[in-house]
Amino acid sequence: MKSWVPGADDSLFGLDNLPYGVFSRDGEEPRVGVRIGDFVMDASAVAAYGGDPGDGPHLAAAWDQPSLNAFLALGRPAWDTAREWLVEVLGNEVHAERTAPHLVPVAEATLHLPFVVADYVDFYCSLQHATNVGRMFRPDGDALTPNWQHLPIGYHGRAGTVVVSGTDVRRPSGQGRPGSDGGPPAFGPSRRLDIEAELGFVVGTPSTQGTSVPTGAYADHVFGVTPLNDWSARDIQAWEYVPLGPFLGKSFATSISPWVTPLAALDAARVPLPGQDPEPLPYLAVDGPAGYDIAYEIVLNGEVVSRPPYAAMYWSPAQMLAHLTVNGASLRTGDLYASGTISGDEREQRGSFLELSWGGTEPFGRDGRTFLEDGDEVVLRATAPGVLGGRIALGEVAGKILPAL
Ligand code: CA
Repeated sequence: MKSWVPGADDSLFGLDNLPYGVFSRDGEEPRVGVRIGDFVMDASAVAAYGGDPGDGPHLAAAWDQPSLNAFLALGRPAWDTAREWLVEVLGNEVHAERTAPHLVPVAEATLHLPFVVADYVDFYCSLQHATNVGRMFRPDGDALTPNWQHLPIGYHGRAGTVVVSGTDVRRPSGQGRPGSDGGPPAFGPSRRLDIEAELGFVVGTPSTQGTSVPTGAYADHVFGVTPLNDWSARDIQAWEYVPLGPFLGKSFATSISPWVTPLAALDAARVPLPGQDPEPLPYLAVDGPAGYDIAYEIVLNGEVVSRPPYAAMYWSPAQMLAHLTVNGASLRTGDLYASGTISGDEREQRGSFLELSWGGTEPFGRDGRTFLEDGDEVVLRATAPGVLGGRIALGEVAGKILPAL
């Protein structure tokens, strides 16, 4: 399966990848694009040609939109049809002449937030991350809370502050824990600003309030994935989170990639979970390989400082979805739920600065960093095995820290 698009087969964005985003050039309206090699294909413009394969034109209206939401709402059969059509159009040279004029170099395109985020939920699915944080925050107690191995813990975040990669992040200000002298709480710019390397799951097909989504219906509801950086202010978080959980320490910004990778592109990356003990309740049971082999890199100011392995995650995305709806909460098109920080067994596989610096006590990297400084840029990269035997890239997530106002 080869593409006629120059360079595509030798890139990490070949015919086995084909992520979706929203793009524009100067003076143009944002619209849906599909990444192939170093180009963005203007999806609705090509679909509008009609002809073989005949299903393309039906998607033109859904793609001539400033977000992916209309396409996401069409559901699994349309997503699968679209992928077949894209492989034909970008793989069969008979379509090259009419399609090539609608390939825009990525370097000339502005990439926008790919979908309107409906509700945003963040989970806490890495055993290694939860254990590390528990050891730091509760050194005299059990590292894991009693519920951790029975349910994927999560909280509802702030959908309106999800931003696309490349958006600068302003250092937040807020309250921190009072000093040991018993004075008032500290107030000012966060001094323990952090990242969390995560994977986000994008919901297309909604569900009805009062019903729940079984694990087996995961692929009917979830369209695809996008890497995600859950920026976190640890000093604000540590003071505010008992007993209602994360609030302002998390809600100032969450960054996602401009590209949403369809689940079908991850078929070769599916792997069994590392193992769940005790066995979860029946509503959380999963068959077959429920995890993903996705290799992350955390890049701080150009230096790779960690390589978290997604395959190490304890809870699977199908279990997160089943748990998130088991009480009858409904899904909406554009819902985003995230995995929680991805951390492996080794120090150089930890997915947050909190863990990499062990609470700020062990500086890491060439600059001896503990938490983020103003001007720091963090890029998350992720790759996975592709169905053609090579690797595919998920979209990068980049963000730079601006000083507090
Ligand atoms: Ca998180």
